[in-house]
This record gives sequence, structure tokens and C-alpha cells, in this order.
Amino acid sequence: MSKRIVILGAGESGTGSAVLAKAKGLDVFVSDKGTIAEKYKAELDGIGVQWEEGQHTEALILNADEVIKSPGIPDKAALIKALKEQDTPIISEIEFAARYTNAQLHCITGTNGKTTTTSLTYHILQKAGLNVGLGGNIGQSFARQVATGNFDHFVLELSSFQLDNTYTARANNGVICNITPDHLDRYDYELQNYINSKFRVTQNQTADDLFIYCADDELTVQNLAQQKGNAKPMPFSIYKTLSYGAWLEGNQMIIKLTEDDSNPFTMLIEEFALKGKHNIYNTMASAIIAKALNIRKEVIRESLTDFKNVEHRLESVGKVRGMEFINDSKATNVNSAWYALESVERPIIWIAGGVDKGNDYTMLKPLVREKVKLIVCLGVDNRKIHEAFAKDVKMLVNTTSMPEAVHVAYKMGEQGDTVLLSPACASFDLFENYEDRGRQFKRAVKNL
Ligand code: ADP
Repeated sequence: MSKRIVILGAGESGTGSAVLAKAKGLDVFVSDKGTIAEKYKAELDGIGVQWEEGQHTEALILNADEVIKSPGIPDKAALIKALKEQDTPIISEIEFAARYTNAQLHCITGTNGKTTTTSLTYHILQKAGLNVGLGGNIGQSFARQVATGNFDHFVLELSSFQLDNTYTARANNGVICNITPDHLDRYDYELQNYINSKFRVTQNQTADDLFIYCADDELTVQNLAQQKGNAKPMPFSIYKTLSYGAWLEGNQMIIKLTEDDSNPFTMLIEEFALKGKHNIYNTMASAIIAKALNIRKEVIRESLTDFKNVEHRLESVGKVRGMEFINDSKATNVNSAWYALESVERPIIWIAGGVDKGNDYTMLKPLVREKVKLIVCLGVDNRKIHEAFAKDVKMLVNTTSMPEAVHVAYKMGEQGDTVLLSPACASFDLFENYEDRGRQFKRAVKNL
């Protein structure tokens, strides 16, 4: 009898896993406690995979030989506890798909910058003519592409939840962009658990592989001993001069993969398509991977110059009456808002707020004092923002919808100001998600 695989959660990653498992001749069952999107139901029916929605039928799940769990399902869920008690192996889609490909895997994790770094790396590899797929948290699932494509490389964006159930997959290049506290509710409120989870990207790496990390990031550096495999550590830094890795000399980025690398990659940071200090880090991480793959310098340079960033990340929406509008709706935590505020050179009208995930705003105060002339609060409950910044800005205004927030910013601003939506909070009080928030912002700016 073939092995029974039960897939919990039928989103893109669950359905992709079902496609792959079926293609490999396994016995597959898919169970989702919520509703499954019509297109996925049709797809599962089309390939003859049994599924259920609105419930988890234990009798059909506890008999699994192996379970592929959606990263959205916490370990605390009763069903997961029951599976663990009877020692059923629980793996992630990433672990499952990695078994069936010999492609090189370039795996990118971190608290902030994953999507940007993953997309930029993919862009460079594609321009270099490599046969490369993009997956993980972005676009089509890794499993689906392993089933239906035949790639030589994958660039994968990995969240800590995806890494948690990954055991044997090996990253030829593993990146930790940075680590700041986030998602602690899923890690028993222990920061160390979250850090350990990020470092799983290094497990199984060999001496041929690179572990690429930010030498300016305190938590990463303090935890370097957590590195699991034998990969060569490859640091990048804006503030330190390194003997190998990526660093700055004046306005020039230098990349050397060994101390005596006689063929360093160099490029002026003004030429980078991605602006802001945080993006120098992201660009460094991507360029290290490109250099490690021996991609021609001209190709790397051109790719770093012509890359178009993904929507909602410091996305310039345009100018109205001499005021610039920037959509950074993806900034759902304090750290990413810090980088946004840092990157703007002009006086800022800052649209912030939403669902506060236990934010500590202290680190933003100096930047707010220096650059922000007005805070437009956009959330159901704005008390914490008022408390944090009442002494740092002349004025805070409460608003309850995006058109209102944009209108207020526009009315109170003047030529030369930048209106920055970088909320530092989740969006669920007033919006469906951060994409909805960003799109509403762009629409409101268009309507001015
Ligand atoms: P992720 O996929 O990890 O959420 P994104 O690339 O989507 O990261 O960026 C999320 C937010 O974080 C954006 O607001 C962006 O401006 C900011 N950001 C991007 N890269 C970094 C970085 N290296 N450090 C801090 N903040 C960053």
C-alpha cells in the first residue's frame, strides 16, 4: 500500500503539496478547517484527491504516515498535539518538496526584508539566464513547481513557521536578513525560540554552502553559535569594514567571497534601484548569492539597477502639488517603520496606526522628533501612538478611513513634504489586509 499523506490546510502550499504527492503516487487526503477556495477544490477534484473543509475528521487524519502542515496552523492546535503524541511525523511543504528536487536552493528568512531580497535575487538569477523558480511565501508554491517544472535553482522566501517543520532540506545559500522580535505569540513568548527557528535555515548546510547574515544585526550576531551546519559564514555590513562578505567603502559596495578574492564586485550604492538603508542590506544579500553563483558582473550590476520593487514596500505613488506620497503599507512592525522613516530625507507627514501587536515605539522617537511634522493616526484605537509621540511632534490627528487620512495629510502638508504610509501596525481593524490598505492609499492619492 502506498504511503498515506495527510495535508492540513488547502491554500496554495497545501494544494501544491497535494499535486506533488499525487504525482509521486502517494495516497493523499487534504483537510481544511476553514473553507477551501473554489479553484483549489476544482484542482483537487481534477487530480482525484479527496478533501474535506469546515472540519478535521480525526479518523481520516490520525491514520496518516506523514502530515504536511500549513504554516498557519499553530502547534498548540488540538489535532497537532494528538498527532505529536502518537509520533506521526509533521513536516512543512518546503521539507516535502525539497525531497523531490535536485535544484540548488537559495533560502531567505529574517524578520523584515524577505520578500524584497527574495524577489531581487530571483530577478538577478533570471536575468543571468538561469533556469530558476521563485517560491516559498511568494507566488506559486515550491511543491507545485517541483511537480510541474524542472528548475535548476529555486529562490525561496521562508518564514520561521515554514522553517519550524523543515528537517532535511539543505540551503545552498541561506540568508538571515535580520532578527527583531515578532510573532512571539507562536513561540511561547520566548524570543530565543523565534531566533532558533530562524537559524534552522543553516541546518544541513555543507562546507560548499554560504550562510549569509547581517553583521550589524545584534540578535543575529549574538546568536551566531546557533549556526547548525558547516556553511561558510558570509557577513554583510553597512558600518563595518570586513575582510570578506559585503561592505561599504565610501559610497561603494564591495563584495569579496574570500579574503584574497582577486575579483571583487564593486558598485556605487546610488546606482541601486532600491532606496533606503534597509535596502542596501537586502541588495548586499542578493548580490552575494549572485557572486557565489559566478554570475557576470555586468548582469549583476544591471539587475541591481533596473529592479522594480514589489508593491507596498516604500513604493513611490507620485507627487501631488509638490508633495510626494509613499506607500509602505507592508511595514506592519516598528522595525520596518524605522527604516522607512530613516530613508525619507524631507519633512514627513506620517500615517501610522492600526492593530498594535504589543509595540514598543521607543526606537522611533528620535527619528520622529527629527523628521516628522505631523502624525495622522489611522486606526480604531490610537491611544498608544498618542502616548508614545505626544511630546515628539507638534500635532497628532485621528482619522478612521484611508480617504480621510490622505485628505488630512494633503491639507496640512506643503510643497516639499513627504506623506509616508508606514503604519508599524497590522491592518485588520480597518482593512482586509496590508495589500487592501496600500491599494486604498494609492486610490485616495489618485483622487486628490
Ligand atoms: P518581509 O517579506 O520579511 O515581510 P518585505 O521585503 O516585504 O519583508 O518588507 C517588509 C517591510 O519591511 C517593508 O515596509 C520594508 O520597507 C521593510 N524592510 C525591508 N527590508 C528591510 C530590512 N532589511 N530591515 C528592516 N526593514 C526592512
